[in-house]
Amino acid sequence: MGYNIRMKLSDENILRYSRNILIPEIGPEGQEKILCSSALVVGAGGLGSPALLYLAAGGVGRIGVIDRDRVEITNLNRQVIHAERSVGRRKVESAGDGIRAIRSDVLLEEHGAALTVENAVRLFRQYDVVIDGSDNFPTKFLCSDASVLTGVPLVHAGVLRFGGQMMAVVPGKGPCLRCLIPEIPPRRDTPTCAEAGILGGVAGIVGAWQAVEAIKIIAGAGKPLAGRLLTLDTLTGAVSVHDVSRDPQCPACGDSPRIRLPLEASEYEQERSCVI
Ligand SMILES: [Zn+2]
Repeated sequence: MGYNIRMKLSDENILRYSRNILIPEIGPEGQEKILCSSALVVGAGGLGSPALLYLAAGGVGRIGVIDRDRVEITNLNRQVIHAERSVGRRKVESAGDGIRAIRSDVLLEEHGAALTVENAVRLFRQYDVVIDGSDNFPTKFLCSDASVLTGVPLVHAGVLRFGGQMMAVVPGKGPCLRCLIPEIPPRRDTPTCAEAGILGGVAGIVGAWQAVEAIKIIAGAGKPLAGRLLTLDTLTGAVSVHDVSRDPQCPACGDSPRIRLPLEASEYEQERSCVI
């Protein structure tokens, strides 16, 4: 086949993932890492749907998904892992069906609960990388803090209307979400998708990009978006990358952090918003 195979890649997997393997930055070694890797996706919604599908299609060996909600008809403009017939079903089960339909050998872990201060650190420790597809700032801050405390890289993102943003939190190699936004914004300043709307394809773009970023981190390909905030405005076509520095005063990753174990629920108190 032209590859110097010294690893566990089966002939079937060499064929299946041949288009990944052909990329010099991935290659057979990178694909082997991907197949042996694990990823957790927080939220099986607008971001989580494409992220989960591309992680599975790309060969990530073990995939966890955590979501406590059920599929609603208003989710279907963007949450493409769920089918019409799944309205009313638990999202983790519906997403599981979607994932297995494209990849039968994936090791899938369905966590039908909310991410909380009680389970976040334990769950993060079980995976190589985490994708934040959550729908609200408290959960996004909890993801960032759990990433810092466990050292597990996180791909943060958020979307609204025609726009989105993304940044990788790679502990020890860049800032965290609290370096960018020191405190959870007041609820009145953070319109939700239920209030402001979201064009489905925008969540698709950003969620798929999160999967790419996670696979880059797993395979060691390229330069992760650590310390760089990517912003996307599909209405104007503008894509920008802004440098973000680690803040020595950051309450999570600074020199004298306030956020420590065990995590306290009072750090994340804000009214829950919509489901992205
Ligand atoms: Zn920080």
